[in-house]
Amino acid sequence: MPESQSWVLESLWPDFMKGIAALLPEQSFRTWIQPIRPEKLDGNILILHVPTQFHLEWIESHYAEQIRQLLAKLTGRELTLSFIVEPKPGGCPEREPSTLPPRVRPRTIHAPVPDDSELNPRYVFDNFVEGDGNSFARAACLAIAEAPGKTPWNPLLIYGDTGLGKTHLLQAIGNFASAHKKVRRVRYVSSEKYTHEFIHSVKNNRSTDFSKLYRSAELLLVDDIQFFAAKERTQVEFFHTFNSLYQAGKQIVLSSDRPVHELDGIDSRLISRFQSGLITQISPLDFETRVAILERRGEEEGIPLPPEIAQFLATHITNNIRELEGALVTLLARATFFNTDATLELAQDVLREKTGRSVTKPPIERIQELVAQHFGLAVEALRGKSRKHEIALARMLAMALCTHLTNHSLKHIGHLFGGRDHSTVIHARNTILRLKEEDTFIKESYATLLRQLDQSTPSSTSR
Ligand code: ADP
Ligand code: MG
Repeated sequence: MPESQSWVLESLWPDFMKGIAALLPEQSFRTWIQPIRPEKLDGNILILHVPTQFHLEWIESHYAEQIRQLLAKLTGRELTLSFIVEPKPGGCPEREPSTLPPRVRPRTIHAPVPDDSELNPRYVFDNFVEGDGNSFARAACLAIAEAPGKTPWNPLLIYGDTGLGKTHLLQAIGNFASAHKKVRRVRYVSSEKYTHEFIHSVKNNRSTDFSKLYRSAELLLVDDIQFFAAKERTQVEFFHTFNSLYQAGKQIVLSSDRPVHELDGIDSRLISRFQSGLITQISPLDFETRVAILERRGEEEGIPLPPEIAQFLATHITNNIRELEGALVTLLARATFFNTDATLELAQDVLREKTGRSVTKPPIERIQELVAQHFGLAVEALRGKSRKHEIALARMLAMALCTHLTNHSLKHIGHLFGGRDHSTVIHARNTILRLKEEDTFIKESYATLLRQLDQSTPSSTSR
């Protein structure tokens, strides 16, 4: 492989993807940037493949500037971009201009713009929609952003399921506090990245620099602290950083995907530090707030969204704002592509594709509700982290029913059960299939629930 080519594929491209992922909303990144494939760097021409002409045009009209700046920053020189339009094998041919010959479109990259901030300017309080599930957390974050280290809430810990706005709020604090010059040094980091950086610094004998970097922060925002689990040395390092900042009256804000008492594998000294400030939860948002978020996103994209469509999506995607936004972005892209308005039919198509959910089949939420009712539990318990026998059993039963009655992927089902992965769903399904043969209670529960969900018993138990 020529030098420039291996450099593009192994170094520049991964760095570029990381950088651009931090700049764009996650869904936009996944929809538009991830499908781009680098081919090679030919002199100053970077050749990239995109799947469709539409894709190319969307990238050019929405992200060209950011791509241009980031590449210039990474390479320190002016690159020309050439796009080759090339449908993916197995793509959806009727929608893709596959008859178009590959096109090469040169674009000039201009001067580099330095920007080393860990904060994403997109996440601000102004575009964070308030609802019952998040209003207290939002108020606490705003109060802290206005007076970091000067409220009694140190540390502030926000917890809640994935996709409910924790990262958005942490970043909003950082953006607000820097914009209003409340502090000079803000550091935002996920505990995962913190762990990697720490390991790296130890390996390179630079752990003192690492400590200094974080101990010099005036506002430290640490996202997803559950990843600290079982990282013992990192926890010790973080413990000292925590104490040093805390004693100096610097503000610390943390987020977690579960309540503190469910943070397994984290030292009790750290746990008690986490508990010493204010702990606030973000819960799933109510219907009206979900609609408001969609309408706001539509406005941001410059495409007004008919109320019945916002309501349709908000009815069917209930637990995760990230998914809700994902459906909307796809819908708007589709409408632009076909040059039509966003219609309800289009929304139904998108929902079916995105979630595998046909609107008439029992959705996962309904299965979760019925199973929870059957066991006398709260629905949240099924999506939560508890490993209590009864809850775990109910959860497995609900997952098994979901694999049986819906067209959702295992991944998606796991996702709606508190972000579990597909192997957990397979395990649940297999366990229930086995228990159904051995245990009368499970057998009867399964049959009753199936009846309630108004479905016939499957002809084969091995599905
Ligand atoms: P988490 O960190 O809890 O998994 P994120 O903060 O990444 O969730 O939120 C997922 C997506 O949903 C982001 O694009 C975020 O901007 C959006 N989002 C979540 N809550 C709200 C809200 N209340 N108003 C506007 N956008 C929101
Ligand atoms: Mg997050």
